[in-house]
Amino acid sequence: MTSLEKKVADLRETLHTYNYQYHVLDQPTVPDAEYDRLMQELRTLESANPELTAADSPTQRIGGQPLEGFNKVEHQVPMLSLANAFNDQDLRDFDRRVREGLGIEQVDYVCELKIDGLAVSLRYDQGIFQQGATRGDGNIGEDITHNLKTIRSIPLKINETSTIEVRGEAFMPKQSFLSLNKDKEMREEEPFANPRNAAAGSLRQLDPKIAARRNLDIFIYAVGKWEAGDLDRHSDRLTYLTSLGFKINPEWKKCQGIDQVIDYVESWVTKRDELPYEIDGIVIKVDRLDYHDVLKTTAKSPRWAMAYKFPAEEAVTTLNDVILSVGRTGAVTPTALLEPVKVAGTTVQRASLHNEDYIKEKDIRINDTVVIKKAGDIIPEVVRVIPEQRPKDAEPFSMPAECPSCGAELVRLDQEVALRCINPNCPAQLKEGLTHFVSRNAMNIDGLGEKVIEQLYDNQLVANVADLYQLKRDELLGLERMGEKSVSNLLSAIEASKANSLERLLFGLGIRFVGSKAAKTLARAFDDIDQLRAASRESLEAVDEIGKKMADSIVRFFAEEKVGQLIDRLRQVGVNMHYRGPKPTVNQEQSIFHNKTIVLTGKLEQLTRNEAKEKIEMYGGKVTGSVSAKTDLLIAGEDAGSKLTKAEQLGIEIWTEQQFIDQIDK
Ligand code: NAD
Repeated sequence: MTSLEKKVADLRETLHTYNYQYHVLDQPTVPDAEYDRLMQELRTLESANPELTAADSPTQRIGGQPLEGFNKVEHQVPMLSLANAFNDQDLRDFDRRVREGLGIEQVDYVCELKIDGLAVSLRYDQGIFQQGATRGDGNIGEDITHNLKTIRSIPLKINETSTIEVRGEAFMPKQSFLSLNKDKEMREEEPFANPRNAAAGSLRQLDPKIAARRNLDIFIYAVGKWEAGDLDRHSDRLTYLTSLGFKINPEWKKCQGIDQVIDYVESWVTKRDELPYEIDGIVIKVDRLDYHDVLKTTAKSPRWAMAYKFPAEEAVTTLNDVILSVGRTGAVTPTALLEPVKVAGTTVQRASLHNEDYIKEKDIRINDTVVIKKAGDIIPEVVRVIPEQRPKDAEPFSMPAECPSCGAELVRLDQEVALRCINPNCPAQLKEGLTHFVSRNAMNIDGLGEKVIEQLYDNQLVANVADLYQLKRDELLGLERMGEKSVSNLLSAIEASKANSLERLLFGLGIRFVGSKAAKTLARAFDDIDQLRAASRESLEAVDEIGKKMADSIVRFFAEEKVGQLIDRLRQVGVNMHYRGPKPTVNQEQSIFHNKTIVLTGKLEQLTRNEAKEKIEMYGGKVTGSVSAKTDLLIAGEDAGSKLTKAEQLGIEIWTEQQFIDQIDK
């Protein structure tokens, strides 16, 4: 066997195994993205070497074998799979092939959500639901009529007497999936990997009582054998099926040409998270049915349709090592160092392992092959191990008993999961505290990155935040990589920070549970630090948004003698201790911004972003960073880009900067 033949044979073997686990056992062991990647690799090798293509290759086959124990159903019209597109170019290539195949300039498409469930076929004779089946291998499926009858949205009777077969996706809504898995966990059973496998696992049960308890649903999107009257378009079929009482997903849309298709696809990339069920892409179908006959199908999928798959949020890689970091509050957290891998558009090299319990529970070891997940802006995390791929040298990881920075014994406080170093002089904590103090939402001192802080601390120039204000030019010039210019810039940034409004100082001091938003609320309410220091628990709790836990923490913080000394020193060196921001002099409830979620985008000419934000907040509105269905208003300056496009698509109200200023002036 040549090495190429071996590679192809190995890929087929692996994909066969994954198909079996996914389609027959309903228990996949790798993310879909990994399966799709290997399939793509095999497809590329086969098309470059056609002599290696075999009829039993996974590239030529659909789904898996029907399970024993079920009656088999032969599909009169095969239930096919769909070819995949992963980016705009794939969609444009599909459109080009369709246009060339039909010899026309522009094609009408129908776009539908690609529901992540299980394809089923439902046959009606004389208006009565007779038989329901899975797709199986495309030609032979399993008879699951008894289970499908438990889905309430499947009509048992319809007003159409000719024999028709409709096809759709049975699925489990997200909420039901979460509670099913919680239940399974409590009973110490293996949870389902995703709602798709949960739906399939529920429908492929011999006892219909199980499916009945699982709260399944269905969307119908196609027809199989059809003896009812002719219709011209796929969109007409969807409308007719709706009129017969079938549940059709309401988000489908007619698109003229591929640009409109791409717009539709893009609009769902972020909106998908808001749906109560999972979708894994968008299905694009040529609308005219006579064109389907012209374009035909391959053995596996129709040439008149395409499934666009959303960017994968999961990937497989090797965990090379575990490093520990000590946070500002002493919590010691483990982070995985990974073989770099691309996920959701970015290269990921580190992922969170949360804490020791998490590592133990998931049995994550060094050198393991792991699945990592990166969803939206969330920090990537290691979600699980692929045990079949565990190498012999995989090593279990255990947390040390001592702090990796100062060597003090680590403890668990109040049944927390995190291990903590409680040494107040722990260098790692002190450095983290300094880094936090100078950070953007705190005192915002430019030029003090982690490396510089490290140098300042290690050279004993700075031990606490007040020391920053007593740094001398000569001392700084003596440090590595510190030239005249950077020293001058740094000293002026430190000097300028003295004038900051109180909330920045409060946030920078790192009082537990006090984030930048709470710091602002406190600064506004108490006006200067001495009043806040003197405030009782009750008066703190009387402030809107300040709860008991935070009030307790604030009182405890200011009761510390060392804190008092630190504040006195900061005052002596000239750090401002008063609130200098805008005061709410308006009746927020009467403002049109009250309780509104607003996004700012583009270049503002008359106000800075921060000024605009402060004004909105002063009138009781909230400013967020990204446009979603929850956004009430977008204020768009010059050169606004994707946020503006998205807001237009979502039909969100859009103002210019001038409209905003006029409203404020009113
Ligand atoms: P597919 O998921 O790529 O697409 C075809 C299916 O889409 C149809 O059969 C239908 O069930 C479904 N669908 C949902 N909404 C639809 C709509 N509106 N119109 C038409 N169809 C709609 O193909 P497939 O053959 O079902 O499965 C292959 C995919 O399954 C792979 O791409 C992979 O992501 C996944 N898979 C994963 C593993 C694994 O180990 N993780 C193994 C095998 C397959």
